[in-house]
Amino acid sequence: MATETAGPSAQRGGRQGGRPALDDEGLVFETTAGVEVVTTFDGMGIKDDLLRGIYAYGFEKPSAIQQRAVIPIISGRDVIAQAQSGTGKTSMIALTVCQILDTASREVQALVLSPTRELASQTEQVIRTIGDFINVQAHSCIGGKSLGEDIRKLEYGVHVVSGTPGRVCDMIKRRALRTRAIKLLVLDEADEMLSRGFKDQIYDVYRYLPPDLQVVLISATLPHEILEMTSKFMTDPVRILVKRDELTLEGIKQFFVSVEREEWKFDTLCDLYDTLTITQAVIFCNTKRKVDWLTEKMRSNNFTVSSMHGDMPQKERDAIMAEFRSGHTRVLITTDVWARGIDVQQVSLVINYDLPNNRELYIHRIGRSGRFGRKGVAINFVRKDDIRILRDIEQYYSTQIDEMPMNVADLI
Ligand code: ADP
Ligand code: MG
Repeated sequence: MATETAGPSAQRGGRQGGRPALDDEGLVFETTAGVEVVTTFDGMGIKDDLLRGIYAYGFEKPSAIQQRAVIPIISGRDVIAQAQSGTGKTSMIALTVCQILDTASREVQALVLSPTRELASQTEQVIRTIGDFINVQAHSCIGGKSLGEDIRKLEYGVHVVSGTPGRVCDMIKRRALRTRAIKLLVLDEADEMLSRGFKDQIYDVYRYLPPDLQVVLISATLPHEILEMTSKFMTDPVRILVKRDELTLEGIKQFFVSVEREEWKFDTLCDLYDTLTITQAVIFCNTKRKVDWLTEKMRSNNFTVSSMHGDMPQKERDAIMAEFRSGHTRVLITTDVWARGIDVQQVSLVINYDLPNNRELYIHRIGRSGRFGRKGVAINFVRKDDIRILRDIEQYYSTQIDEMPMNVADLI
C-alpha cells in the first residue's frame, strides 16, 4: 500500500460562488501500488453516449475517489473503495455499472445491493439518469413493493438491478431474477452489508452468482474486521482506503450541546427550530418509538416536522421521501434507516438527538449534510453520561467537536 495525497493543496470542503464544488485536493488515500489517478472523465475510456449522460447530469470533473477507482472497476478488477461521505462513491457505482453493460443483451449483468430501500431506489434513479443515452434498463428490487410488478419487470428484461438483499434473494429463488449473465456485484455501504444483520443474506445471494464474478465494495467506513473477511470472496482486490483520521470533512462543523438530562433535550430542540428550517435538517433518534414520540411532541407544540422509520408502510415512506427531496418539508425526524447513503443536497444540518450506537454511524449520520463540498453542521445532544462517548468519537477520528456557539445559524 502507498500513501498518496490528492493534488498539492491541503484545502478541503471548498465552495465556489455558491455552486457545489468539491475541493478534494489534499485528501489522503492509501492505495494498492499501481493505481493511476485520472483527472478527467474523457481520459477514462468511457463510452461516448455514457460520457454525454455524465456531463448532462452536471458532473464536470471526477472526484478524488472517482479519479482512482473508476478505471480499476471498469477494467474488471475486484475493488475495495473507501472515501469520505458525499464525495461521489455511489455516483461512481452508477457510472461504472453503465460502462460495463452490454445494452444489446436483455440480461441482468450487474447487481447493486444496498442496506435500505430508499438508498437502493436512489441508486437505481442515478443509474437511469446517467445511463439515459445508452438506454439502460434498470430496476429496483426492494421490499415493500409489489412482487408481481418486480416479476413483470424482470421478465421484460433489465440490464441492472439495484436492490435490498431480502427481495433480491426472493426474486432469485423464484427464478424471476436470472443470474447467469451477472458479471458484477457491488455492495454499497459494504461494511453494513457484511455486518451481522445482513451477512447471511448476502452470502445467500452470492451463492447463486456465477463463479467468475467481479466484486466491488464501497463505503465511507471499512473497519478492520470487515476488510479481513474480504479475502473469502474477493480476488486480489485493488484497495483505495482512507485512514480514519482523514474521514471527517472540514466542511462539516461538529458541535455538542450539554443537556445534562434526557428531559432537557426537547426544549433544546425547540430552541433550535428556527435554525433547523434555514435549509433542511435531519434529526436522528435511536429507536422508532422515540421518533414517533418526538414527532408527536413537536407537533403538539405547533412545530412542523415530518418523520420516517422502518415500521411505516412503504407507500408512506416513499411519500415522505418525495416531500423531503423536493424541499416541501424541511425537518425530518428519523432513525438510522436514514444514516447511510441518502443524498439530499439541501440538508445542511444534522442533529443527533441521541448519540449513535457506534462510531461508524456517527460518520454516516453527519455525512447527510455537507454533500459534495457543501457546508454542513452537526449538533450532538449530550447528556452527562454521554460525554465519554462523544470524546471517544472525537479521539477515534482525530476530529474536533466544540461546544455549540451562539451564532450557529451563521454557519449554515
Ligand atoms: P457518496 O456515495 O460518496 O456519499 P454520492 O455519490 O451520493 O456520494 O454523491 C454525493 C453528491 O455529489 C450527489 O449529489 C452527486 O450527484 C454529487 N456528485 C458525485 N460525483 C460528482 C462529480 N464528479 N461532479 C459533481 N457532482 C458529483
Ligand atoms: Mg453513497
